[in-house]
Amino acid sequence: MGVIEGILNFILIYLIVTGIFNFFVLTRARKAAEKANKEHLELKPEVKEEIEMVRDNICGRSLPKSEAYVLAKNEIKHYFCSWDCREKFIAGNQM
Ligand SMILES: [Zn+2]
Repeated sequence: MGVIEGILNFILIYLIVTGIFNFFVLTRARKAAEKANKEHLELKPEVKEEIEMVRDNICGRSLPKSEAYVLAKNEIKHYFCSWDCREKFIAGNQM
């Protein structure tokens, strides 16, 4: 076997080895990406938080609890869509 053939064989083996190595690295990277994507999709339902709705007894509107005006009376919480409804409730109940 000549020197040139030896070098060519070495290059060939080198290319095959790096090719296999790259294949495994890429496969692992793709699997990791797929897994991350899947986990992300599974997390979505948890991210969607449940919005608790409350009813304004003055005007009858339903609204998210976080946006409601709150008034506590006799340990009971009353929710209102606006300051006006809250005032109407107070006026009606002579608090
Ligand atoms: Zn209202």
